[in-house]
Amino acid sequence: MARKKKGPESGHCSKLLERMSRYIEGDLGSDCCGELEKHLAECPECRSTLVGMRRLADLCRECREQEVSRSPDFRTRLLQVLFPEP
Ligand SMILES: [Zn+2]
Repeated sequence: MARKKKGPESGHCSKLLERMSRYIEGDLGSDCCGELEKHLAECPECRSTLVGMRRLADLCRECREQEVSRSPDFRTRLLQVLFPEP
């Protein structure tokens, strides 16, 4: 099976995506944490992904705590998190 070449970092980045969600939840061991943080320092793409995931996690937590999903502006806020204005 032929491998598609996407660039040296893309495979690494997608591997780290799964870790990021655990990192946000504070569920990642310190070894993995260090590796992830080192990569984040070098990779702006992953940094912006992490910021987006953090916002989403915050929103989810808020949603569970306050049931804001029933409030009319929840959808607007969710869309702002997922597709922030440049
Ligand atoms: Zn990356």
